Amino acid sequence: MSRPIQARLDQGALESNLRVARRAAPSARIMAVVKAEGYGHGLLRAAEALSEADGFALLDIQDAVRLRETGFRQTLLLLEGFFDAQELAVIAQYDLACVIHSAWQIALLDAYPGRATLDVWLKVNTGMNRLGFAPQQAAQALEQLRRHRAVRSVTLMTHFANADEARGIAGPLALFNDFAAPYRLARSLANSAALLRYPETQGDWVRPGLMLYGASPFAEVGALQLGLRPAMTLRSRIIAVQELREGDEIGYSALFRAEHAMRVGIVACGYADGYPRCAPNGTPLLVDGQTTQILGRVSMDMLYADLSGLPQADIGSTVTLWGEGMPVEEVARAAGTASYELMCALTARVPVVV
Ligand SMILES: *Cc1c(COP(=O)(O)O)cnc(C)c1O
Repeated sequence: MSRPIQARLDQGALESNLRVARRAAPSARIMAVVKAEGYGHGLLRAAEALSEADGFALLDIQDAVRLRETGFRQTLLLLEGFFDAQELAVIAQYDLACVIHSAWQIALLDAYPGRATLDVWLKVNTGMNRLGFAPQQAAQALEQLRRHRAVRSVTLMTHFANADEARGIAGPLALFNDFAAPYRLARSLANSAALLRYPETQGDWVRPGLMLYGASPFAEVGALQLGLRPAMTLRSRIIAVQELREGDEIGYSALFRAEHAMRVGIVACGYADGYPRCAPNGTPLLVDGQTTQILGRVSMDMLYADLSGLPQADIGSTVTLWGEGMPVEEVARAAGTASYELMCALTARVPVVV
């Protein structure tokens, strides 16, 4: 028998979550965001399950080439565009679309000899202040791109900083719409949160990521309420049981001390598997399908599960760290992080089964 941890990927859930996106944005094309190995689910496995999408967005040019060579014919968008002149030839060869977010990229385009080969997405900075041209500079960049001999098409895009929060998108949306109004160009604005909450942001292309993997982008609305199914379930087993007496402590730094006799299960899952080390006492998990909590410090390869009230739990009991029955958002909240980070954190030593 091998170490019992595994991540089960439910490709049916990905397909179903894509349909949720489709229903929420019926008139937009869907650019499924598969960056970071499909948010930790595996690039090719995620893309296969999402093959009904109209496009895929990602970061690495090698990954885009991998998708193209595997046979994906959809639009493949590089979210940070290109980084050097050599990449432009690859972009043309594999028919990739690329974000243009800075003037230095336009300078690289100027030196590129190709003609009408590139589909570019001009990124407008509407307040996120990460990538993109401020609206005042974007008009000039757009003029350069529209008459650029290397450019075949221009799509206008922006990205919201607060679509999932109370702040919302009103200000940035108005900025973007003011900028885009004079042009008859395709538009793309919405991430998962904007797609689900603000139909007025849908434009021509929506760019959902998180929701496709079955997590809610909102603190106050769960994934199930949104009709989303978790695509990944991280499971392991109890490999040892300790009977604690009153006053016994557990783990590094003795972060938990038993106030009375109790049992704890040692779970074969630790931070080297991608479970957050910062998850404190009380972070929820399932043992044999019942909700309980972790105790003590998460170590590299193991963590402690509270078996109080679970007399049937024993060596071999199944533990669900997150996924089916244990929303990844709840684990993330308890650990002070985001479900995005937990999904991406899964390490290579965890076998993924479909
Ligand atoms: C990651 C990303 C998305 C997807 O965001 P989610 O919140 O996961 O839906 C969309 N657009 C851009 C530019 C991104 O970087």
